[in-house]
Amino acid sequence: MSIAENIQSIRQRMAAAAQAAGREDPILLVGASKMNDAAACREAVAAGIDALGENRVQELLGKYAEGAYEGAPLHFIGHLQRNKVRQIVGKVSLIHSVSSLELLEEIQRQAEKQGLTQAVLLEVNIGGEESKSGFAPEEVEAAARRAAQLPNISMEGLMTIPPIQTVPHENLPYFRDVYRLYIDIGEKVFHNKLKYLSMGMSDDFEDAIAAGANMVRVGSAIFGARHYI
Ligand SMILES: *Cc1c(COP(=O)(O)O)cnc(C)c1O
Repeated sequence: MSIAENIQSIRQRMAAAAQAAGREDPILLVGASKMNDAAACREAVAAGIDALGENRVQELLGKYAEGAYEGAPLHFIGHLQRNKVRQIVGKVSLIHSVSSLELLEEIQRQAEKQGLTQAVLLEVNIGGEESKSGFAPEEVEAAARRAAQLPNISMEGLMTIPPIQTVPHENLPYFRDVYRLYIDIGEKVFHNKLKYLSMGMSDDFEDAIAAGANMVRVGSAIFGARHYI
């Protein structure tokens, strides 16, 4: 199957999941293109992917220089170190993975320097895993309030990466929890103006859509299995 065929089949599955959930609002497909080259990214763009998301700053910069992302919005979805913020602010239209207040403040600082507004999502560590970054659920509201005060930050929603599933549908309760948090914070802090709830990957995007995600991040189901070196 080609990248274009994979995207088409994922779109169909997304539409079926949305229909089953009685949803008619748009749901965006972000291609998680880590470890796939510029040619693969261009194929996904040509096939109408809504955005491409990268995990590593170094890889993003290299592929950016090759024109890999031309024609589609570029997102940053991976763990972000504070000392690398400067290199991506202004290049990416959305950072999904703001995982600490220090990182938020650094994005504000760099966006101010460049005279632009950076759109961000706050990452929620919904499984409470040591190995994952993100705010604990009880910390998200305070972080959202801080984000709302920062002049060069546009706080647009939440993102989560739940634990790796061992059986199908295992993450559905986590997705529902993050949806509730998204609605709750949207009401309390943003007059219901939050835009994006980013959750769901190759193995569980249909469950994420059932729970209310409007942005899914799909890698291997589009690009094939990744070959770690
Ligand atoms: C790699 C990655 C994905 C996509 O994972 P797949 O299981 O390959 O679909 C989604 N989100 C993040 C943050 C990722 O790093």
